[in-house]
Amino acid sequence: MSTGVVEKSNVVDHSVIWKHCLSKIKENVTLMTYNTWFLPIKPVQLSNNVLRVELPSQFFWEWIEEHYNTLINKTITEIIGPEAQLSYIIHEISEQQENIPENGNVSSDDVSIVSSAPVVKHNFESFLNTRYTFDNFITGEGNQLARAAAGAISNNPGGTSFNPFFVYGGVGLGKTHLIQAIGNEIVKNFPNKKVIYLSTDIFTVEFVEAIQSNRVNEFSNFYRSMDVLIIDDIQFLIGKEKTQDLFFHIFNILHQSKKQIILTSDKPPKNLKGLDERLISRFQWGLTADIQPPELETRIAILKKKAEAYGMRVSGDVLDYIATNITSNIRELEGCLIKILANASLSSKEITFELVKETVKEIATDKKIININIDFITKTVCEHLNVDENKIREKTRKKEVVQARQIAMYLSKEMTNSSLKTIGLHFGGRDHSTVVHACNSIENAKERDSTIKDLLTGLQSKVELSLA
Ligand code: ADP
Ligand code: MG
Repeated sequence: MSTGVVEKSNVVDHSVIWKHCLSKIKENVTLMTYNTWFLPIKPVQLSNNVLRVELPSQFFWEWIEEHYNTLINKTITEIIGPEAQLSYIIHEISEQQENIPENGNVSSDDVSIVSSAPVVKHNFESFLNTRYTFDNFITGEGNQLARAAAGAISNNPGGTSFNPFFVYGGVGLGKTHLIQAIGNEIVKNFPNKKVIYLSTDIFTVEFVEAIQSNRVNEFSNFYRSMDVLIIDDIQFLIGKEKTQDLFFHIFNILHQSKKQIILTSDKPPKNLKGLDERLISRFQWGLTADIQPPELETRIAILKKKAEAYGMRVSGDVLDYIATNITSNIRELEGCLIKILANASLSSKEITFELVKETVKEIATDKKIININIDFITKTVCEHLNVDENKIREKTRKKEVVQARQIAMYLSKEMTNSSLKTIGLHFGGRDHSTVVHACNSIENAKERDSTIKDLLTGLQSKVELSLA
């Protein structure tokens, strides 16, 4: 592993370092994300491996923390080295921050947070985001059942018949929020219980790392010792047989000892094609609850709550307008609100109706990116090229499989917000350099060969049209 740029020279300018980071980050996010969330970050200082950056506002920091923490951590570790840390200063109140010690030991004070580089877990940490609570989860027709079950589980984890609790539904409808709220509530009600939350991607990555470092037993024992295991987006286990196998054993042990298991997915268990049947049947042992898109009243209520949380003063008309025009999911609703806030705060403009309209329009055009996912792209590519979808995740080097795989990787990079690492994981756990290589090959082929270019355009519109 590289020791990072910093070690090579004693005096390295923080802005040079940040530039390196930015170019890495740029590879992993869409241009819009890059411009909105990364360009405004100002490097301030680098000392003792702590890179201090200034952010324009509190909400900006929260957004970054929530959505790009992993990416940032990974990037700074790569560039600065394994000890790297990032500390954030919020521009609005930076004057009060002058007593932050210069030795890099930034206080754990809310405003300036040191986000430490990722470490493989030895000690226990629950990885719950405390911002997801029942208090700020709005209940409507679409999520009533799931919310009620969540409440019951929080009062009696492992002791209800809702085990496992399996929540499914479309993107941005509140699955992650709800299951983390359960976790937070359990931690509050039962401080001695070990609760852990993680995404299936992280689970898989850690498993692979455990295999590589000969620590599979340790890994498995760690998860078996939990009282509450919360795993998000379990559909990403599809195509990862080894991880499924291990998860199956962990599931059994936890379930037998009446430990609570909570899972989410984008579809109901029986539709998780390609997942081990044994798992599918176990997922149905407890309660399966779906979350449906919210109706207008619920959308307005959610927006109101979010606006309050961000300290935004917006009129009822504005909220109505957004809720009427953005109907697909809550993440988008929230994204719209944040974008309005971003547009207003970055350009020091008032929140006018004009600004709101403009932002809503932008979000509507951006929508495709939000709804398109890697699995869907893969399915479309395979159908079109008549290649077995399962083959794509295997080691096969057959020409037509390789081509389909590379095209699917390329389109995933172009059409989703997923990082190269995530894309690699979807194709049988390949690493990010394989994805880079695939994208470059397709890019080259596209330049040289107009049939490839047409094929790509055709596939792209096929994906877009099916989701329209
Ligand atoms: P999913 O995991 O289903 O894709 P998330 O849980 O990430 O969706 O929700 C997306 C965003 O919408 C989050 O910021 C979440 O706080 C918010 N959200 C979702 N459902 C609700 C709700 N019922 N009340 C308040 N906020 C919600
Ligand atoms: Mg989620």
